[in-house]
Amino acid sequence: MAAASLQVSELTVGYGPVQALEGVSLDVPEGTVVAVLGGNGAGKTTLMRAVSRTLAFQGGSIRGGTVALGGRRLDRLSPDQVVKAGVVQVPEGRRVFARMSVADNLRAGALGASGGRRAAAAALDRVHELFPVLEERAGQPAGLLSGGEQQMLALGRALMGRPRLLLLDEPSLGLAPLMAERIAGAVREINAQGTSVLLVEQNAALALGVASHAYVLEVGRVTLAGSAAELTGSDEVRHRYLGVVDETAAADAEQAVSASASAPALRRWVP
Ligand code: ATP
Repeated sequence: MAAASLQVSELTVGYGPVQALEGVSLDVPEGTVVAVLGGNGAGKTTLMRAVSRTLAFQGGSIRGGTVALGGRRLDRLSPDQVVKAGVVQVPEGRRVFARMSVADNLRAGALGASGGRRAAAAALDRVHELFPVLEERAGQPAGLLSGGEQQMLALGRALMGRPRLLLLDEPSLGLAPLMAERIAGAVREINAQGTSVLLVEQNAALALGVASHAYVLEVGRVTLAGSAAELTGSDEVRHRYLGVVDETAAADAEQAVSASASAPALRRWVP
């Protein structure tokens, strides 16, 4: 099987008259977690939609550039073909099927996945190991789960498709800090088990604690890129994304990424 590195090159995306991304290039090398940071409206969700090919559902389209996984163009595939190629998105806001049971939500995640019943059973075991609460609450409607448990279910449902690359759109959104940290821990574990992750987050401290590399997106363009350690140390990121007065958050993030300092120097992005 070819390496599952994601390569986004010179991607330009619009919704009618709105230009949401312009000449965005980024890489997610196989086996890594790469974060995309940015404020409201920066284009983070649009990037996810462009990779998963769900842009058209939102009235958007790719106007230039390419998206490829392991050298294979994704931007010519349908959304279900992208899933078959191994790319599964967990959208912002979790979107579990509230009236369906937890178990049926997970089953839905396995629909269309190759490998048959045995592979689905192995995937379910893996999900239950990661999130025991999903086994305990298997028969309950998903809508009764807490926000954090619903995020676990959304992650678990995505894992049932046995992705090579997970697209995570703001998994910490609306969660209390402790639960957000549990989700971050789960993402680390999912990655350690061999799945690459493209993580989009407004919570820069959390994202930089999980990712090895990160990109900063501002008004549709990549403005900074580097290792998580380098970005955590950059004044611009500290002030704009880790909070000017919140040196504690910066220190926490710095501590969390101190082990991953081996990447090339932080560079200002030149498209
Ligand atoms: P947030 O963190 O607030 O979700 P974001 O970084 O994910 O923001 P996007 O949702 O990708 O940003 O939005 C990028 C730009 O595209 C914004 O100007 C937004 O208004 C616009 N946009 C997003 N979705 C649509 C749509 N369906 N139709 C028209 N414009 C859209």
